Amino acid sequence: MGQAKIYYDSDADLGVLSNKKIVFLGFGNQGSAQAQNLRDSGIPNDQILIANRVDSYAETAKAKGFHVEHDFAAAAAIADVLFILIPDQVQPGVFNEQFSPKMKNNATIVVASGYNVFFNLLKFRPGQDVVMVAPRMIGSSVRSLHEKGHGFPCFVSVEQNGTGKGLDIALALSRAIGATKQGAIASSVREETAMDLFAEQALWPNIIMMFREAFNVLKDAGCSDEALCYEMWMSKEPAEIFERAADDGFVAQLKHHSTVSQYGQLSGSLKLGGEAMREHFKDILYNQILNGKFCKAFSQIEDDLEKEGDANPLNELYRRSEEMELVKAEKRVKARLAGLL
Ligand code: NDP
Repeated sequence: MGQAKIYYDSDADLGVLSNKKIVFLGFGNQGSAQAQNLRDSGIPNDQILIANRVDSYAETAKAKGFHVEHDFAAAAAIADVLFILIPDQVQPGVFNEQFSPKMKNNATIVVASGYNVFFNLLKFRPGQDVVMVAPRMIGSSVRSLHEKGHGFPCFVSVEQNGTGKGLDIALALSRAIGATKQGAIASSVREETAMDLFAEQALWPNIIMMFREAFNVLKDAGCSDEALCYEMWMSKEPAEIFERAADDGFVAQLKHHSTVSQYGQLSGSLKLGGEAMREHFKDILYNQILNGKFCKAFSQIEDDLEKEGDANPLNELYRRSEEMELVKAEKRVKARLAGLL
């Protein structure tokens, strides 16, 4: 709790990476951005290896001048540093079966999200470092901000310090990918996972529910589909409010609204005590996320998410969500705008 340490370029020494072979498993959103940033920071191309199956990602890496290895066992054996930058759901299978058995006992393994480490889904050896360098940006922004000479927000942590030099290596890697320019925030896989899953399982479900119910009440009160869709989200006003909140302050941005609006929002929110919501949130955080209940349940349906049609549980959730009046109204409005009605 309290203030997190923030690491800057001056806290990191790129020298600790000299002669280390740095392998990127994956050349997708994050892999392509981080590998290019790292090379631009002066890490020689011969020290970098992209491990990727034979396909268009591998071709893109080759076209950008990187060395590419399709044989994962060979890549694992030479890695002093391994960035795991493939989708989270395939990491345990690929890493545990194809990388872990061949890796050096003193290698540094880097993850860009906390989930698989926090829930112990990846197999590491005691002498290895396990660090998190987790940009808070999509890959294209990680690359474009670095190209413009800017940094990007990022979390950094050492989860297992097998070599005793885990933090030095994590900070050097953070600097090399451009993450300490703006300041990398000391965090942990627990914190990153808790916040990520909480937003996904507590905050946004409630926001979706509130929009759904607000829509239903206002529609029953006689408001039109068109007026409601534009008032509530299609005008992009909510996006603008969040942008101003990031720039001016969460509450200070209210000053851009009318006096009636400011009074309504401030008095209304202060009137809502939030005790029931706080208990509901705590229940989700402790009894669904941090205790591993969600992770266990998700692992049981994970394979079904690759299936087609009704056998895929996500399709069923989409089908039910599309029953919301808000979604039906939006479709009508968009069709009308497109001149189809
Ligand atoms: P991508 O979906 O872009 O990953 C694509 C890469 O993964 C390709 O190289 C692809 O190559 C490879 N890949 C996919 N499936 C497999 C498989 N079964 N075996 C081997 N390689 C595979 O991933 P992201 O960059 O989006 O995410 C990487 C990590 O970064 C994750 O941990 C994510 O949570 C984290 N992260 C992502 C952010 C984002 O903006 N997307 C933001 C911050 C963190 P091929 O198909 O050829 O095998």
